[in-house]
Amino acid sequence: MNKNSSNIMALAPNTSNKRETVCIFGTGDFGRALGHKMIQSGYPVVYGSRSTQISNLIPKDAEVLSHAEAAQKAAIIIIAIQRQHYNFLVPLAEILHGKVLVDISNNLKLNQYPESNAEYLAQLLPGSRVVKAFNTVSAWALQSGTLDASRQVFVCGDDVEAKQMVMNIVRALGLTPLDKGSLLAAQEIENYPLQLFPMWKFPIFLSLGLTTFFFFYCLALDVIYTYIYEKNNFSFFIAITIPNRVCPVMALILLALVYLPGVFAAIIQLYRGTKYRRFPDWLDKWMLCRKQLGLIALAFASLHVVFTLVTPLRAFVSWRISKGIISQALNNKTEPLNNTNAWISDCYLALGILGFFLFVLLGITSLPSVSNNVNWREFRFVQSKLGYLALIFCTAHTLVYGGKWFLNPSAYKWYLPNIYMLSLVIPCAVLVVKFVLIFPCVDKPLTQIRQGWERNPKHSE
Ligand code: NAP
Repeated sequence: MNKNSSNIMALAPNTSNKRETVCIFGTGDFGRALGHKMIQSGYPVVYGSRSTQISNLIPKDAEVLSHAEAAQKAAIIIIAIQRQHYNFLVPLAEILHGKVLVDISNNLKLNQYPESNAEYLAQLLPGSRVVKAFNTVSAWALQSGTLDASRQVFVCGDDVEAKQMVMNIVRALGLTPLDKGSLLAAQEIENYPLQLFPMWKFPIFLSLGLTTFFFFYCLALDVIYTYIYEKNNFSFFIAITIPNRVCPVMALILLALVYLPGVFAAIIQLYRGTKYRRFPDWLDKWMLCRKQLGLIALAFASLHVVFTLVTPLRAFVSWRISKGIISQALNNKTEPLNNTNAWISDCYLALGILGFFLFVLLGITSLPSVSNNVNWREFRFVQSKLGYLALIFCTAHTLVYGGKWFLNPSAYKWYLPNIYMLSLVIPCAVLVVKFVLIFPCVDKPLTQIRQGWERNPKHSE
């Protein structure tokens, strides 16, 4: 009987698990949104404000007191006030002594102040325990409940216990705390909401620059040249023909640019005979945005597929086909099927399809939801081995497309190569160097270097 009742006791809800009162300084947008969410999660909330008049914007169940009175009611105080007003806290230093102050502030510019706002708060109130949190969550997301995409809350602070208390609140609100370490990390956390696609900048500018260059290159060779020398007006090429030339070229070049920094890194490591020296900054940055380069390449490849699929619908193509049929009828002569051409065209299409399939596979495995579910070896297998295979297929697709045209002088309008020829330079260079790198006499020392071996160790005994 006793045993049973003790089991029942263990299953009964813990009624002593009452939430501690939380104080919020500031009844502005963020203070109100956070207070509302906290009340929903069972926290009694007391506001510290310059005006104790209750406005109907403030959550119903919250109390509004003066800063000093409110601070006395809670061990945790969330400072929902802009940094430039922090001075008003100094006279409250005694009341705030030993309390956990949560700095949620953001700035208007990256590295706006020499120290982070949280460090500044800690300097103003050395007796308080400052924790940085919540600054990456917006008042709007808190209010509208659209936190699905940004459940992570970065937390940092020098006092471990204070940090734990704040992380418990974060969890109770249904969010995920991510411990970023000491208060030194606050600057980085404060810069985070101000960054605008940092990893995408270089890939996007590079893609825009190359696309513009190739577009005008094609315009000159396919439209202007034809107009001047053949008196044909092919200006409608701007809509589909030229984009369908630029897209595959961009896809191939960008895919090669994903693998080029790895090749550079291997050459640098072989040359230096160590992996313990930093790569040049440009190479580091390039390596960090390989995923973005690959995703843009995939976007170009997908556009190429769509442009190609609509080809039979084009008036120009139907006209060319009917022109061919009529000329055969007029000459009373049927062109026999050229078996070599049929082979070339089928191989060209097959290589394109295989290359695109692997391209899509690379794109899918780079998504966090997928990459988090594969181990490092599996991820490397897909991104490196299958990635190189995709590069081989796509390069071969372009080489077969060019076929005999590489040696035909009429392919060089104004003595300039066609853009698919230009697009082959980087991929071929990457594949040739990679081929050299996998030779055992090169691969063996490179693997040793990557495992920590040094040609001239600095710290030898
Ligand atoms: P806000 O709407 O302008 O509210 C700021 C509050 O600070 C005011 O309502 C006021 O509250 C108090 N205040 C203003 N001047 C003061 C002074 N001289 N002395 C003392 N208190 C003063 O701003 P907010 O959008 O809530 O942002 C507050 C903080 O949260 C900022 O540091 C911001 O960077 C950060 N934050 C905001 C968001 C967001 O989505 N809004 C997201 C992340 C972080 P009382 O009238 O009650 O005194």
